[in-house]
Amino acid sequence: MNSPQSTDAITNVRIAIVGLGLIGGSFGAALKQNGYTGHISALVRTDAAAAKATASGYVDHASTDAQSVVSDADVVLLAVPMLAMRAQLELVKPFLKPDCVVTDAGSVKGPFVEDARTVLKDMSNVVPGHPIAGREKSGIDAVDAALYQGKRVLLTPLGITLPSAVELVTRLWQQCGAVVESLAVDHHDRVLASTSHLPHALAFALVDTLTSGQQHEEIFRYAAGGFSDFTRIASGDAVMWRDIFLTNKTAVCDALDTFNLHLAELRDAIESEDGDKLETVFKRAKQSRDEHFQSAISTTTTAKN
Ligand code: NAD
Repeated sequence: MNSPQSTDAITNVRIAIVGLGLIGGSFGAALKQNGYTGHISALVRTDAAAAKATASGYVDHASTDAQSVVSDADVVLLAVPMLAMRAQLELVKPFLKPDCVVTDAGSVKGPFVEDARTVLKDMSNVVPGHPIAGREKSGIDAVDAALYQGKRVLLTPLGITLPSAVELVTRLWQQCGAVVESLAVDHHDRVLASTSHLPHALAFALVDTLTSGQQHEEIFRYAAGGFSDFTRIASGDAVMWRDIFLTNKTAVCDALDTFNLHLAELRDAIESEDGDKLETVFKRAKQSRDEHFQSAISTTTTAKN
């Protein structure tokens, strides 16, 4: 479901970002670039990171002290790796205002909902979210104020989530230039397992398989464009991807099982020299990609997590 585009800029809401890397930093940078004049603070892990964050201009205040970062916040966005979410929720919880809206940018929604339910108990102001935008570089040095421009952000509110909380988070992402859609938590995790997590697993496995062989140097010397295109996503951050696979285990394993069946069929067709079968599969794949990908890509990005 698409949310209507709001024309009113949000200026006065106080925002706290937990984890100022690519996704959290780009959120702050995009808001500031797009007319947001309110206060943004960031919770970081070291004093050096706090100094760098403040100097960046993406936020107004950064600190390792959770209380100073979140106690005035109207909205808290968590943008840390999936398996760090629960500890960060525990860290900020004692200092949250009672009506503070809590949202996140994590790539898997079920585990975030579970973490939030366990730690916060009351889910009425929790709005799980996931920007379908990103890149292979991480950390504050990779921040891009235009990262969310024209990209989708998927929100997975629960039945109990207050409409006002959903609206606030929607408007903030819209102000970053994103197109906001809602879908169910499980649906999100299943769809992303196929469209993003599976391709990343294949890219990691392909590069690892080829580069652990004897002709390691030759692989890169004679790499064709296809190898480079297909394996670009294998440069993603190892910790972030470890967490995504571990927290979306069932859906990713189902997607891998389905893929393995198709790959085995392809292998059989090659071995038995079944040219008709190969041509049918390749034509079908080309047709699907040509038909659907160009229209979808205008509001998403290639295989983001
Ligand atoms: P990043 O590595 O650029 O930033 C992560 C931030 O979290 C950093 O500030 C880091 O210091 C902090 N952090 C890392 N481990 C931590 C821990 N154990 N405790 C506290 N803080 C910790 O990563 P990112 O790309 O900004 O990803 C953040 C979240 O957004 C992840 O949940 C990821 O799944 C999701 N996401 C990423 C992308 C992408 O393409 N990179 C896209 C959509 C969603």
